[in-house]
Amino acid sequence: MKFGGTSVGKPARMHQVAQLITKDAEPTIVVLSALSGTTNALVSICDFLAKSDKTGASNLIEILEKQYRTFIADLLNSSICIAKAHLVVDEHFEFLKITQRISLSDALNKDILAQGELMSTKLFSLYLEEKNIDHAFIPALDFMRLDNNDEPDLGLISEKLSAVLNLHPTKKLFITQGYICRNAKGEIDNLKRGGSDYTASLIAAALKASVCEIWTDIDGMHNNDPRVVEKTVAIEQLSFDEAAELAYFGAKILHPTCIWPAQQENVPVKLLNTMQPTAAGTVIKKEAGTIGVKAVAAKDGIIAIKIKSSRMLLAYGFLRKIFEVFEKYKTPIDMITTSEVAVSVTIDSDLHLAEILEELNNFASIEVEKEQTIVSLVGNEIAKTDSILKKLFDAINEVPVTMVSYGGSPHNISLLLPSAFKTKALQLVNKGLFNL
Ligand code: ADP
Ligand code: ASP
Ligand code: MG
Repeated sequence: MKFGGTSVGKPARMHQVAQLITKDAEPTIVVLSALSGTTNALVSICDFLAKSDKTGASNLIEILEKQYRTFIADLLNSSICIAKAHLVVDEHFEFLKITQRISLSDALNKDILAQGELMSTKLFSLYLEEKNIDHAFIPALDFMRLDNNDEPDLGLISEKLSAVLNLHPTKKLFITQGYICRNAKGEIDNLKRGGSDYTASLIAAALKASVCEIWTDIDGMHNNDPRVVEKTVAIEQLSFDEAAELAYFGAKILHPTCIWPAQQENVPVKLLNTMQPTAAGTVIKKEAGTIGVKAVAAKDGIIAIKIKSSRMLLAYGFLRKIFEVFEKYKTPIDMITTSEVAVSVTIDSDLHLAEILEELNNFASIEVEKEQTIVSLVGNEIAKTDSILKKLFDAINEVPVTMVSYGGSPHNISLLLPSAFKTKALQLVNKGLFNL
């Protein structure tokens, strides 16, 4: 069971989480995020330190510390547990204060980002202790591992987690941190923003769990982005492939790559609402359930690269040359379309953009468009859905589409458009395809 930031962000919510995790008799691993807002604050602290703005950093640390002191007062009752909780907060804020006196490195940056999950889990464990709820606290840093490519090492995680669990043969309830892990060098690292979902799925796969429950602040995956579109509805069932596409293409409720571990071991994933625990939520499993369009998602920050060369005409090996450049800079391509003399691709990171463009320029002419958004329509066998393309393009008639990807998978149609048109596109799809 994984509980996100808003699910643990207030003392009353933590009390509610304690009730939810003790309802079931099955042995349970509970994965917690940092309290909502904490990771953002830690990112800002790192940004201040990177700019050598010590005052900015210490002001933020001070504000954050006050929030934790108030949180403790509302979370706990017993003076022993309250004292222990203040010691926890002392320890982590002492660390944060020390960071202002040393120069910021990549490793220190990640240490700072880990503080949120370390504190939320320790405070929650103290609340369970106060309530006499028997449990074991298992630090994620003891078993969550990345490999040399900075990808989760499922084999090693499984091995280490089993060893950790064997230390507590009589326990049925375990508390651990989402998001944080160690890399191949043994340093503290993380699974990127929103990574607690990934932790939960990795643990579920490592232990071949009966279910992986992701508890959040909404009653499941909705058909459209509720932050952008007024009327959205929860989806009852998604296949692993559909959910993975939605997560990757911007449905924030799930971390972009968190589906694969559960899918690998065929562990169903349930998306549930902490604020409304009896709502059905969404179940994600092997079978898609129904046929047709299920949801639309949008991913911002996309860069389109148009690669043109007359030498491509009737040539083979041209695509390989292009892909080798992206491979060299470990930059994944999201969308691709081709014509006889041109290839357009999209990427979601400008980290190595300059080098990539320089190399492509050696054999082709290049045009770059930034501030693009991918809008992805996801469903089961949508390619076979009656007049789907006509319906889609009729619906978004007013939106300038710059690329289309269709047929790559039977459950996805992706469009590229300038980000300024995202809201309009999502609203029009909601009306035209979902009748909402
Ligand atoms: P948590 O802190 O629990 O991990 P997140 O904020 O990461 O929660 O994810 C839940 C949020 O995802 C929702 O509050 C909602 O605003 C947003 N969201 C975006 N797209 C969707 C979607 N298609 N369905 C449901 N929620 C979505
Ligand atoms: N606390 C981390 C974040 O805010 C991880 C998570 O909540 O999933 O990104
Ligand atoms: Mg999240």
